[in-house]
Amino acid sequence: MSVTIKTEHEIELMRQAGRLLEKVHNDLAGYIKPGISTRQLDKIGEEMIRSLGCVPNFLNYNGFPGSFCISLNDEVVHGIPSDKKIIHEGDLVKIDAGLIYRGYHSDAARTYAVGEVSEEAKQLVRVTRECFFEGLKFARAGNHLHDISKAVGAHAAKYRYGIVRDLVGHGIGTHLHEDPQIPNFPQKRRGIRLLPGMTLAVEPMINLGRADVAWLDDDWTVVTMDGSLSAHYENTILITEGDPEILTLSDQV
Ligand code: MG
Repeated sequence: MSVTIKTEHEIELMRQAGRLLEKVHNDLAGYIKPGISTRQLDKIGEEMIRSLGCVPNFLNYNGFPGSFCISLNDEVVHGIPSDKKIIHEGDLVKIDAGLIYRGYHSDAARTYAVGEVSEEAKQLVRVTRECFFEGLKFARAGNHLHDISKAVGAHAAKYRYGIVRDLVGHGIGTHLHEDPQIPNFPQKRRGIRLLPGMTLAVEPMINLGRADVAWLDDDWTVVTMDGSLSAHYENTILITEGDPEILTLSDQV
């Protein structure tokens, strides 16, 4: 699939899809408390998405058995919602969510600390978010795709974090995953030239320890090899002639 350039009409639909997803994230965040299971969170979130007239795009995607990916602590991404997985005080909870609004997808992830967590965990969450915004500085027409990758990776490297290499960001539009792939670490080549109307999901996945990850036997859940904590932060963005627009976050501070 080639990289798609969205029309003004498509961009407006993606803005709507983004705003609705932001609302789901913000509303669901209030339910992340000790004692709730990740399956309960998934069900509450799915109901929110459907009540907005949207469809959860992760559900049944390549057979994924949930509407949200909910990953705890050393789980990096793609955690399957489960009645057996209960949120505890001190957990890092990663909620990756996406929806379809009138045929257009949005995709965003947040990492939450439940109650008190260690200073190093707090820093990991903060820096992972910062990595996104470092990359965002280069997300403008005329730059090259891998300028984003380099900036994301450079920020994580300052803290000697492990930057996940086996999973990457992606284009997004009428499909959840479109070209191009967006690595979170420096590339030898500079990548495609960014053009106005490209919509991209930029999503740093950063480990407190080493970069290596493994897949559990459920064929979905990605975990850190060394058992260290991992954080994830993602937004769907629009490339413009000027500053990029974050479609899944209105408060950019
Ligand atoms: Mg994504």
